[in-house]
Amino acid sequence: MRIALIAHDEKKDDLVAFAGAHRDFLKDCDLVATGTTGGRVAEAWPGLTIRRLKSGPLGGDQQIGALIAEGKVDALIFFVDPLTPMPHDVDVKALMRLAIVYDIPMALNRATAEIILSGNETTARA
Ligand code: PGA
Repeated sequence: MRIALIAHDEKKDDLVAFAGAHRDFLKDCDLVATGTTGGRVAEAWPGLTIRRLKSGPLGGDQQIGALIAEGKVDALIFFVDPLTPMPHDVDVKALMRLAIVYDIPMALNRATAEIILSGNETTARA
């Protein structure tokens, strides 16, 4: 499974914890992430191989959007901070739009991310 990971700054700890809780499954996935998010997850969980793109505000969100448009992402896990204004808000919106256009599963919080992975973890075990 090809999964894109992004977390805004206030949500990075949550994503690191989430990735750790699911690292047995994620280690067999093709992971791609924005720069800082990917760095944080890889540092915490060295067993995970993550392709790091640019940082979100420098174009990383758009790079992930391009991968979605090319059919190279199966699911987007994007822990969004709803309480902080972002300079790259338009990029965030564009990324979400492409995930909708291409109808890929998109989790914007941990509760939904758990549902997406639980469905696939079950399939992987079967
Ligand atoms: P970052 O980008 O992982 O490089 O912090 C995420 C974002 O803010 O979109």
